[in-house]
Amino acid sequence: MDAASFNILLHAAAYILEVFGVSLFIIFLYVIYVDCVLPAWSKLRGFSVKELAKLPEVRGRELGVASECCICLDSVEPEDPVRLLPGCNHGFHSACIDAWLSRQPRCPLCRSDVRLEPPDQGTRGDSGSVV
Ligand SMILES: [Zn+2]
Ligand SMILES: [Zn+2]
Repeated sequence: MDAASFNILLHAAAYILEVFGVSLFIIFLYVIYVDCVLPAWSKLRGFSVKELAKLPEVRGRELGVASECCICLDSVEPEDPVRLLPGCNHGFHSACIDAWLSRQPRCPLCRSDVRLEPPDQGTRGDSGSVV
């Protein structure tokens, strides 16, 4: 093997290593993005109007005794449209909680995450070993 062809071989190897390294780096960035950036982003994001419409809406009287909306600090009248948050069952004026949830998917009272789907029932043990 003469010096010229060795040089070409060396350049080819360097090129392959470089392409390999760059693709690894891109894959690395992609994994970071999917694993860390996307979940953080979706956690910060509130609900859309379409998603908000899926939340149950009742009348103020169904909350029972004189309730107060902790967002506007006004009392909830029996005829007021009220949303009950699935999970914690806290109730607020529909207009108040819709504005709140469009900015963050969390209950303003207990700070628990608001899920549109009912929580998974599959976690309970079925062996009767409940203490
Ligand atoms: Zn309110
Ligand atoms: Zn709550």
